[in-house]
Amino acid sequence: MKIIRIAFLFLFLYCGLLNIACIESSTSPSEDPLILFDSNRAFDILKKQCEFGPRPPNTDAHRKTRDYLFSELKKYSDTVTLQPYTSDVDTNSIPPERITLHMNNIIAEFGNDHSDTLLLAAHWDTRPCADKDPNPEKQREPIMGANDGASGVAVLVEVARVLKEVPPPRRVIIVLFDGEDYGKTGDQMFLGSRYFAKNMGKWKPDYGILLDMIGDKDLQIPIELFSWNANREYTDAIWRRAQKLGLAPFQHKLGDAIMDDHVPLIKAGIPMVNIIDFDYPYWHTLEDTVDKCSPKSLEVVAKLVINIIYEGL
Ligand SMILES: [Zn+2]
Repeated sequence: MKIIRIAFLFLFLYCGLLNIACIESSTSPSEDPLILFDSNRAFDILKKQCEFGPRPPNTDAHRKTRDYLFSELKKYSDTVTLQPYTSDVDTNSIPPERITLHMNNIIAEFGNDHSDTLLLAAHWDTRPCADKDPNPEKQREPIMGANDGASGVAVLVEVARVLKEVPPPRRVIIVLFDGEDYGKTGDQMFLGSRYFAKNMGKWKPDYGILLDMIGDKDLQIPIELFSWNANREYTDAIWRRAQKLGLAPFQHKLGDAIMDDHVPLIKAGIPMVNIIDFDYPYWHTLEDTVDKCSPKSLEVVAKLVINIIYEGL
């Protein structure tokens, strides 16, 4: 009787273990997109962009970065497109020169279910002048843009790898805008997003998220005011989701209105939210460098983006 009881106990334990094994295999880490995101890998993509140097349009570093980002995205998507355009602008020299900038938005597509399209965006160019640098003699030099440019791109290129591993239940368009940070005045900025907003064609999304300056070690992301004013319900849903996921840097309070690449898309009728930490003392200075950023910050933002990709809002 004792032996039989022990045999039953073993059978019970065995079944229990099988059960656990089954539960574990159905949520295997290799299939969980959140676990697939590698923040160190993302940080390497941030560093790699900075290794090319400052990346304003019409420079060799700009061309090399374009080729690098295009080939990275090509690893993860069969459909990657360069969207070329030019813009005539004034340089920052005295007197200013009139020149033609040659730029490219880089667009990658994922997912086959076209009933719902989410746009994810960041800008890949960097500012040609450090006009907020405390040293006036340095204000004509180009910035590195580790946070202002490279951080959002780094998250999206690593998210692209996740999208290849686990196809999304909706269509996702990643667009890396060029010419965001060129000019001193608003009419010579956001060149890529303005061009895209007028030429969305088959890429026209239902809604979108812009990532800008999300690499700061001291990450704090209040609700951006243009996004809130344009689409309250949608914006609020994103911050509530961040709260639900326990992502403390997302602060459920209103912040500043920040002119950025989301505005041309909002004007074109697309609900577009800007996730941005504008409280960054190195903004548009020569100090916007890799050491001010952290993999952890990239991960916080990626967690939210990946959750929205796979769960919807
Ligand atoms: Zn900037």
